Amino acid sequence: MIPTQPAGYRGRFAPSPTGPLHLGSLIAALASLLHARSAGGEWLLRIEDIDPPREQTGATAAILHSLVQHGLRWDGDILWQSQRSAAYDAALAALAADGHLFACTCSRRELGPGGVCQQNCRARRAPAGRPCALRVAVPADFVSRWEDPWQGTQYCALGRELTDFIVRRKDGLYAYQLAVVVDDAYQGITDIVRGADLLDSTPRQHLLQQLLGYPQPRYAHIPVLTDDRGRKLSKQNMAPALDDTAAPSNLRLALHYLGQPTPPAAADQVQDLVDFAVAHWSPLGLPRAPAVTAGQ
Ligand code: GLU
Repeated sequence: MIPTQPAGYRGRFAPSPTGPLHLGSLIAALASLLHARSAGGEWLLRIEDIDPPREQTGATAAILHSLVQHGLRWDGDILWQSQRSAAYDAALAALAADGHLFACTCSRRELGPGGVCQQNCRARRAPAGRPCALRVAVPADFVSRWEDPWQGTQYCALGRELTDFIVRRKDGLYAYQLAVVVDDAYQGITDIVRGADLLDSTPRQHLLQQLLGYPQPRYAHIPVLTDDRGRKLSKQNMAPALDDTAAPSNLRLALHYLGQPTPPAAADQVQDLVDFAVAHWSPLGLPRAPAVTAGQ
């Protein structure tokens, strides 16, 4: 069934439980919540727990606790990707039935830079019994184009610039690109606000939406927060976990990085700070690319 998009604004935050939230992820969550709430929209939460080898014990609980402590309240029930296998299988079956998938048996060593399949797997039938990844055959003429409020006009001739990408991994796990597209459609997401580190995923997601007959949400990518050596603040780079006991000052710092008006000194409760930020949300205040720097 082709999901229909709801009339109103519906945004989401979709963390992977690979570690606790840090300042960079708080900024992304806050921007997405403020954009949704200031439009009178909903804001949903999805836990992207489809990659057990990369997950950290306790990370989900820590993420939920941080969100609540920082006054970032989501609407409705949490969607857990670990419970969505049937939907991902159905999407894979639909893609396969339309001839959009092929099996790739390349080992890590055989893949070229950026994980490019170099063995011409697209053109041959995969030998039975060998573990294989499933890739999407990107149509040569596919073009992805969108107006990004913070990154400007984005254009990617995917068919020429990008290679056939993985939707199910060799180890049987579903790829992020597939799961995110299936779930954004399932949840009726109209607007995606996330970090610019995911900018190059958007054309792939556009392609999957087109192939699966899903509506295309609007995409907006906020500049990525980097440390003073220019490295993205990420769990992989050991960015410190948010101190939940300092939620009001974390929120003030996040608002500062988002170029938003400073809340009055009297606003010392998280709910007051979030309410002020929703009422004063000014997307134009956000720094445009290049990335802003933390720790200055
Ligand atoms: N789960 C992804 C992450 O934690 C984000 C997915 C998205 O916002 O599209 O980086």
